[in-house]
Amino acid sequence: MDKFDLIVCGAGVAGFCAAIAAARRGASVALVERQTTPGGILTYYGNCSIDEFNNPFRQDKKMVIAGIGWEYALRLWRAGYARIPDMNAEYVKHFQYGVRVNPAAAAKFMDDMLLEVGVHLFYGQPMVEALTEGRRITGIRIATRSGLQTLAADMFIDCTGDGELAAFAGAWTVTGDGEGVLQPGTLRYFPAVEPGEDRVLNFGDNRNHVPIDPTDSDAVTRAEIAARRMIFERMETGEERIMAIAPAVAPREGRRIRGESCMQVADYESGRQFADSICYTYWFVDVHREGQKALIRYIRHENTPSVRLSAMISADIENMMMAGRCISSDRETNSAIRVKSSCMAMGEAAGAAAAMALRKKTDVRALDIAELKADLQAGGAIVPGLEAGREFSL
Ligand SMILES: Cc1cc2nc3c(=O)[nH]c(=O)nc-3n(C[C@H](O)[C@H](O)[C@H](O)COP(=O)(O)OP(=O)(O)OC[C@H]3O[C@@H](n4cnc5c(N)ncnc54)[C@H](O)[C@@H]3O)c2cc1C
Repeated sequence: MDKFDLIVCGAGVAGFCAAIAAARRGASVALVERQTTPGGILTYYGNCSIDEFNNPFRQDKKMVIAGIGWEYALRLWRAGYARIPDMNAEYVKHFQYGVRVNPAAAAKFMDDMLLEVGVHLFYGQPMVEALTEGRRITGIRIATRSGLQTLAADMFIDCTGDGELAAFAGAWTVTGDGEGVLQPGTLRYFPAVEPGEDRVLNFGDNRNHVPIDPTDSDAVTRAEIAARRMIFERMETGEERIMAIAPAVAPREGRRIRGESCMQVADYESGRQFADSICYTYWFVDVHREGQKALIRYIRHENTPSVRLSAMISADIENMMMAGRCISSDRETNSAIRVKSSCMAMGEAAGAAAAMALRKKTDVRALDIAELKADLQAGGAIVPGLEAGREFSL
């Protein structure tokens, strides 16, 4: 059995940042990923756009998310594998500020950054069981190529997107609207390109909506079959020349985990700050719906919404946090905070909080918020209560 200070389940953008933030602060960290590639929806599922590091409705200092996510984007950009738009450009539409990345380079650069800080990587080894004692997780079982293996740790962060660790550990979760309605998923396809065409990004459109419940294996199987048929028809009718498809349908929502607090949409949309607001988040309410237009409500003001630390701490499991799209939030808030730069900021905050709790041998709920905020800012993050924003520069 291998023992670590911290196990992060899921190497999407949230898990990537959580693992790095904790490892940079001296924790021994294991990062467990079901697929053989880090990045989750950014890479494996082929959605190569990172939105939104800025709040375009601020007068100045428009950057509201920096830290590890921005450092990663800059590394890709310097090497020619990302397009970073002018974050000060006048607002026309939100998508203009998306950082577009090449998915192969995006995964490779994640490997590099994780290995640089000594994160123990368990790729292609899904967590299949949570081992618990009372209200604590003591370890997880992963499925390796040579059988099941147990990993133990003092703390855990659920970054599986779908709240899988929480569910396996018996924590309370809710999926979609709680009554069986979920946002559709999308199978990304990559149109054929001619030599010399832009290689940073060229993925197909968003029309390949299929119903999917990522918490139900049968529903996932049905969704994969339906999505491949849809794309095949496009090829057959000559509508598209398709070079490749993403390996799986990307789910927009899965389980949301009950936290010490739950983010509410009225607070989100007003940009209300709390004493434990630990990172900013910026996007609009964006609930995709099967067979009808998405529910969209833009937030066009200076007050940037934030994520509370308590929404990333499990109410049911003493030594578990969560980051990314499975945090404690109502459904409409979740449709906004799920964008990638926000997930990255959450991951970084959760990783830093876990590392501080481990170092002080205390419960994460007992941390001094001011000290944690200062620690995060010293590490490069933009932290509510300390900074409202930062100048954009490349
Ligand atoms: C179709 C679509 C379009 C989108 N468009 C945009 C966009 O344009 N811009 C934007 O910023 N955001 C967009 N989003 C939202 C955004 O991409 C995601 O919400 C975000 O990437 C989620 O990050 P995450 O790290 O929380 O989860 P994920 O990226 O889902 O990562 C979770 C990881 O956990 C792993 N995992 C799950 N279960 C286990 C297990 N049992 N054991 C081990 N590993 C496990 C998964 O394999 C995955 O790698 C889009 C999402 C979708 C689905």
